[in-house]
Formats: sequence, C-alpha cells, structure tokens
Amino acid sequence: MASIPDPKAIEEAYLASAYSGVLCSMPRTVGNGDPIVYGSLHKSELMKLYTQYFVQKGKPARELYDLIKVSAGGKCPLCGGVGSVRTLDHYLPKSTFPLYSVMPANLVPCCRDCNTDKLDGFSESPDKQALHPYFDDSKFFTEKWIEAKVVPGLPPVIEYYVSAPENWSERDKSRVSCHFKYYRLASKFSVEAAADIPETIHVRRTIMSSISPYDFSMYLFEKGQTPALPINNWRRVMFSALAMDPWFCENLFDEI
Ligand SMILES: [Zn+2]
Repeated sequence: MASIPDPKAIEEAYLASAYSGVLCSMPRTVGNGDPIVYGSLHKSELMKLYTQYFVQKGKPARELYDLIKVSAGGKCPLCGGVGSVRTLDHYLPKSTFPLYSVMPANLVPCCRDCNTDKLDGFSESPDKQALHPYFDDSKFFTEKWIEAKVVPGLPPVIEYYVSAPENWSERDKSRVSCHFKYYRLASKFSVEAAADIPETIHVRRTIMSSISPYDFSMYLFEKGQTPALPINNWRRVMFSALAMDPWFCENLFDEI
C-alpha cells in the first residue's frame, strides 16, 4: 500500500511555492474522471470535504471557515474593498487542485462577485497568477499600480487602467495586469466612481463655486491622499485623476 503523504508536508510545500510566487506549479488533477488524489480519497471526495464539512453550519470545521471570513475585516481584498466578504475563494481552484480544498492558506475571504468572476482554470504561467493577499510582496499593496483618467461629459466617466511602477519586474507587471483583468476591476471601479462623482460635482457647484481651479485641484488632491484608504483604492485613484484633470477642475458645472 502506498504511503499517505503527511498533510504538514503538503502545507509546507504550498507555503514555499506561495512565498516564491509559483503556486501554478503545484500538482494538478486534470481530466474529467474522478481519480484518487490523496490516500484512498478521490477528487470528488476532497471537493465534498469543503462543501459538506467546511462550509456547512453545525460541522466542527465551520468555525475555521468563519474565522477566515472575518479576517479581512469585512472588505474583499481581491477587489480592494468594492465588495463585502461573503464567501471564501480557493486561490488554487478546488476543481483542479483538490488537494488544497480545505487548506486555510489556500482560502481567501472575498465577495460574491470576485468569487464568480474568477474562472475555475488557473494559469500554468507564474506571470499570469492573480495576487495572493496572504503571501505576495507588500509592494503590491503599498505602491500605486492603478491609475485613472477622466472622460469629459455630463456626467464624467472615470476609466481605470494598470500602470505599474517602471522598476517592477516584467513578471510583477504582468501579474497585476492579470489580477486587474480576472477580477474586472476596471468595470467595478468605474461603477463605484459613477455613483460617487455627483457628490463632488455638487460640492463644486455650491460651496466651492467661487474657488479657483487650482484650489479645487488641491482639494481633490488631498482627498486622493487619505491614508484611511489603500493606495490602489478606486476612490483614492479617482480623486487623484480628478485633481490632475484641467477640464474637471475648471468646470463649474453650472449648466446642470
Ligand atoms: Zn471582491
């Protein structure tokens, strides 16, 4: 009888790959069948381990599920807090990587949209992996890699795009582009901005109608610096873009 791999060793291998940014190299279970993956356990049984024993209320492991869920402070880390945490995402999808179906390191709290947006597949290329909030370099979360531009109109539209720092490696630049695409951040962020911008226009039309375009730009710039929000948060990026846009800063919106 083949020996069963030590779960601790499996977790250690996962962590080593996670810190090196090469989780795509972990062993996959491919094909449509239901092969044995671990000991005598089939792929389907490992997947059920999550849905029936980890997620279901009343099961002992549900406590761990709830603990992981609250660890994000309510805000989805995959879309920068646009959505609220409602579920757990398998960073390595359990359909392809059933071995990690209940491993906490592989379970990321997220919103329903992000959970749905992510496909079951997982790139085999290290430069196409989404960001893993637990393990990836802090620069992804402390340096600005999302920018926006203002499309003039009534109402104006904020378009978001990736602009990673020049000194980042090509792999890191590619990874943030992929993360941005996988979780449809351009669309999610623009929708949030569209709902938020009328308030700023109202401020410009009323209490700030007599200040100069320069002073209004400074006000917007300060709003974009608020340390309460992460650096790539849609609202911070939006205010920075508005502050830099002459059309927006010079417009009194008195035709509305
Ligand atoms: Zn999300």
